[in-house]
Amino acid sequence: MTDITDRLRTEIDARRDDLVTLTADLIRFPTVNPPGDYYRDICEYVANRLRKRGFTCELLRAEGARGDSDKHPRWNVLARREGASPGETVHFNSHHDVVEVGRGWTVDPFGGEVKDDKVYGRGACDMKGGLAASIIAAETFADVVPDFRGNIEISATADEETGGYGGVAWMAEQGYFSPERVQHVIIPEPLNKNRICLGHRGVWWAEIETHGRIAHGSMPFLGDSAIRHMAALLGEIEETLYPALASRQTAMPVVPPLARQSTLNINSIHGGQPEPEAGYTGFPAPVVAHSARIVIDRRYLIEETPAAVRQEVVDLLEKLKATRPGFSYELRDLWTIPPTMTERDAPVVRAVDQAIGEVLGLTPDYVVSPGTYDQKHIDRIGRLHNCIAYGPGILDLAHQPDEYVGITDMLDSAKVMALALNNLLGRS
Ligand SMILES: [Zn+2]
Repeated sequence: MTDITDRLRTEIDARRDDLVTLTADLIRFPTVNPPGDYYRDICEYVANRLRKRGFTCELLRAEGARGDSDKHPRWNVLARREGASPGETVHFNSHHDVVEVGRGWTVDPFGGEVKDDKVYGRGACDMKGGLAASIIAAETFADVVPDFRGNIEISATADEETGGYGGVAWMAEQGYFSPERVQHVIIPEPLNKNRICLGHRGVWWAEIETHGRIAHGSMPFLGDSAIRHMAALLGEIEETLYPALASRQTAMPVVPPLARQSTLNINSIHGGQPEPEAGYTGFPAPVVAHSARIVIDRRYLIEETPAAVRQEVVDLLEKLKATRPGFSYELRDLWTIPPTMTERDAPVVRAVDQAIGEVLGLTPDYVVSPGTYDQKHIDRIGRLHNCIAYGPGILDLAHQPDEYVGITDMLDSAKVMALALNNLLGRS
């Protein structure tokens, strides 16, 4: 066994240049989302490479999924390599989309520039470096242990940055992540090479509207201001809801630690007449607001239920309705994702934990993400709970200008992935 793990490590070091070129090539596809450019090109590139190395590759369009259109089709690629004997399937899933460039860059965001042990570019860290590391890991493992059991899958999927509905969610709906087909999933998101991410907090987005009655602004007593009703709601949120949320601590190891409590963000607020169009030079009209709306983003803990999270807000609204003359509201649910956390003794967790010990000589930190990522679909639609995020790259660099991924970090995490494959599919 040690002989094989040594060979895997040496062989990955020998493929350093290949790893760097692969990462730079992936960065050079400007797969910016929205709108979702160059999806088919990057999928073809991945398929062409893996076909030459014994993988069967399928290009899959998420036709009809949220975000899919003829102008911007949502393409995904799935590569599969079968071992010498039947067994379990280990699947590496990376998203191939990246967020917009933004300002402040000193290098070409789609140049794939290499400097001082780093590859630069939009998506270097989130997460083309992770995709490249998983490809090198899988290829090396299949070369060094050609008689492995079971199957290895690699997917590069669309739209993670906008919810994953044209990517992993669609694939999960088609059965690609069902427990009969896939038993272990590793998502190489940039969470630092010494950390295993077990899952994420839950999300509830909702829009709340307060109603009023329009009247002339000089005689507001003849109307009823929706903005004043909204202000009363915001006051209640400030005085009672925020302290209640802050007092609720989770046993989930969320990073950063300030996210180990329930949180609420008010994403937007609109009330009264719409903003005038650009170039309008007149005054606003004097009217009492007949409508005001907020969108809330509530992140919740594994110890809470979605029903209780919602009810807590309904209770605030009902209290106002009972005590405040004229108060009426509508609550519209926009999006709900339950929290998820893989067990620490799940097989994929144990395999990666042991590999991190062997490669880095340390025990990994176990973390949970404050926000969601594609694990939500694998868990909820795919019904597969043996899933973690593990990959190279520094989380704080994601979506920043001058984003980069460390080459040594990619090599180390590729070694961890290859050793984890050996733990799960190697000769026993
Ligand atoms: Zn990502």
